[in-house]
Amino acid sequence: MNEIRKQRTVLHSDANAFYASVETALDPRLKGKAVAVCGSVEKRHGIVLAKSEKAKACGIKTGMANWEAKRLCPDLIIVPPRHEVYAAFSLALHEIYERYTDLVEPFGLDECWLDVTNNLKNPHEIADEIRETVKRELGITVSVGISFNKVFAKLGSDLKKPDAVTEITQENFRDLVWKLPCSDLLYCGRATTARLKEFGIRTIGDLARFPCDYLKKTLGKNGETLWRYANGLDESEVARFDAHEKAKSVGHGITCVADLQNEEEVRAVIVALSQDVGRRLRKAKLRANGVQVTVRDNGLEFHSWQKQLSAPTQESATVAEACSQLFKDRYGWQKPVRAVSVTAISLEDENAPYQPSLLLENKIGEKRKKVERALDGICEKFGKKAITPAVLLCDNKLPEDMKEGVVLPGKHV
Ligand SMILES: [Mg+2]
Repeated sequence: MNEIRKQRTVLHSDANAFYASVETALDPRLKGKAVAVCGSVEKRHGIVLAKSEKAKACGIKTGMANWEAKRLCPDLIIVPPRHEVYAAFSLALHEIYERYTDLVEPFGLDECWLDVTNNLKNPHEIADEIRETVKRELGITVSVGISFNKVFAKLGSDLKKPDAVTEITQENFRDLVWKLPCSDLLYCGRATTARLKEFGIRTIGDLARFPCDYLKKTLGKNGETLWRYANGLDESEVARFDAHEKAKSVGHGITCVADLQNEEEVRAVIVALSQDVGRRLRKAKLRANGVQVTVRDNGLEFHSWQKQLSAPTQESATVAEACSQLFKDRYGWQKPVRAVSVTAISLEDENAPYQPSLLLENKIGEKRKKVERALDGICEKFGKKAITPAVLLCDNKLPEDMKEGVVLPGKHV
């Protein structure tokens, strides 16, 4: 059944040392230095989130404690994470990919598959153009894998990096891929790898040559899937890029520097998060019909509640009010709160028709809408730091990066 099908060309583009590269692109003084993006020592998550090539050469690994990293490399420059900046770079990367195809499927913030079967250009040419464009426009590098399926394209982007292209073909995959450990295959996790080892299967080649029926019997469907991957038989499609699909919800969350002890403190954080959620709704021209608030207590347990709104909104104040009320009504205060997130759900286009239930509500809404639009303009011009909601002025439990302005890619590179 597959013979008739045209051979696909799939690229997988993976941004190298993403967080650290973005920080370096925005601050050229970091160039060529050992840099690690870390949750700071004062915060609870004092671990390495990403490291530059130089830091990697010192033996620094992702997930390592800050102090351990600093001991390995005393010159290490530690930078706090700025997730909104990375998200902005991620979108900028997608925009570059979309110049070549509308079949762009993100995998995390810094990886994407592109189906370029219908692009008339040679895939190597496309890969090189993408590499050069990303470097020129964003100041970071990507590694690109080219292959006839998604699994091998992803493997390819791992084979040579940074700033490189690797092609895995029907002809060369046995030479290039089969010598690699099984764990290099997508979805071959630690437990599966251990299980395969029990059968003497260590490399992808071992897996490919093993009787499929036996794998299916012992490992179930996953055994068969991995066997197909190893033999180059992955047929999964690259999902079509769809901005609306992507924006099913808009949310933002943080882990606080110190535990939140009462309702007022939680409200302050909800207000801060809602500023961002509202701004993103307005930017995406979306309205929310519901909200969700999730908290994690200091025993690391999650609590999450949702509610529908009486009218759709894109106002930060309305989102904040609804979430604060929801939290107030539902949280039993068995334990202090460590992390909070606010999400706008049941999204619709801002032009979708609706009947405001109360004239008064509508009038207040109109006024608030104008105020928030004006504030968006100020933030766009002067950065997010320009405006701090009054409720936050005395708050010292928010992580520093929430109070920082965001620099969008393109402006500083
Ligand atoms: Mg990466």
